[in-house]
Amino acid sequence: MASDTHNNRGTIQQTLDDYLAQLREQSDRMMGYPAARDYNYDIIKPFLDVTINNCGDPFVAGTYRGHSHQFELEVLAFWAELMRAPADNWWGYVTNGGTEGNLYGLYLARELLPNSVVYYSKDSHYSVAKNLHFLNMRSIMIRAQPSGEIDYEDLRETIRINRDVPPVIFANIGTTMTEAKDDLAKIQQIMHDLVVPKYYIHADAALCGSFAPFLNPRPKFDFADGAHSLSISGHKFIGSPIPCGIVLALKENVNRIARSVAYIGNLDTTVTGSRNGLTPLILWYAMKCFGRQGMAERAQRSVELAAYALERLKSIGIKAWRNPNAITVLFPEPPADIVAKWQLASANGESHIILMPFLTKTHVDELVRDLQAPSTHDTTRSDTARETNKHRN
Ligand SMILES: *Cc1c(COP(=O)(O)O)cnc(C)c1O
Repeated sequence: MASDTHNNRGTIQQTLDDYLAQLREQSDRMMGYPAARDYNYDIIKPFLDVTINNCGDPFVAGTYRGHSHQFELEVLAFWAELMRAPADNWWGYVTNGGTEGNLYGLYLARELLPNSVVYYSKDSHYSVAKNLHFLNMRSIMIRAQPSGEIDYEDLRETIRINRDVPPVIFANIGTTMTEAKDDLAKIQQIMHDLVVPKYYIHADAALCGSFAPFLNPRPKFDFADGAHSLSISGHKFIGSPIPCGIVLALKENVNRIARSVAYIGNLDTTVTGSRNGLTPLILWYAMKCFGRQGMAERAQRSVELAAYALERLKSIGIKAWRNPNAITVLFPEPPADIVAKWQLASANGESHIILMPFLTKTHVDELVRDLQAPSTHDTTRSDTARETNKHRN
């Protein structure tokens, strides 16, 4: 490194140490945004000394070898099975996050049904409108029920009056604010009733995809329930220090749009060029550590903690609520210092907490204490937290 760096090593170290301490403190109290933190990826640290690039289709052996495709394939197979994808007819890759998976699903839908209209509910993630804009797709926003679930009657009527164009349904499997899950069985019923010959369903399972298979009753959200593609975030319920995700789609559809690229001796089936090689290792390690059983237990614990939080909030007279089996609990937006301390996501006068793995009854109890006596809690960090809050999504 340059001598300049040498002279300043002390300062550089100090700057990074301060930043790390600040991150740790904020992270411990963050209840409003969905990020599991019960992980330890020390075993992955040596891989920071090498460049891994997963450029290209993970299923195709290309010329370039510095990739982690073999790990990526295991991760994909694990999740494809949980998402009940048809055994010999699925494809996917590890993305940069849920948004990229949604972009991919919509892209595929557009290529398959060129003159389609996308229907998505008002409570969809803010990135959906952006993706539709990138893809220049026609779209119609559908009303949402108070729970956040799509209004099926509005969906039915809107598709009915646009019967001459094939519909693409962008279904939310856990909305950002209330964790409402659109029911693919009901959506398929609408297609059936209206005798729609061609349609496409993409499931935005960014939030709930990784734990929905373990819920009882199991939500109707996956390939067996009629999805043609599905996007999951890796850094939410699974937990990852680096944002990532998984997109899965029916292989027969992907094959129809794949283009071969001579430069890398591979297929250009993914959204980006170079792709993160470290995140497949992270997701692989999480899969090995938790397995199906561990994921199921984490889901169960989060659902139970959400039930506990709901009861505690109600017990002090707060009008809290949650959707059935959700790990998100909503309540009227509290004073700004409490919102800042706990990084509570808020919209339209309502705040929520998401009971992600690593949160405990102790966190819930402390939040409840703050809500009971707003003047007694620690606000020393609230300015920093408020800043952080503003920039999060
Ligand atoms: C988080 C989220 C997204 C975006 O996923 P990223 O991984 O942040 O890109 C999209 N949709 C829903 C419902 C989400 O909760």
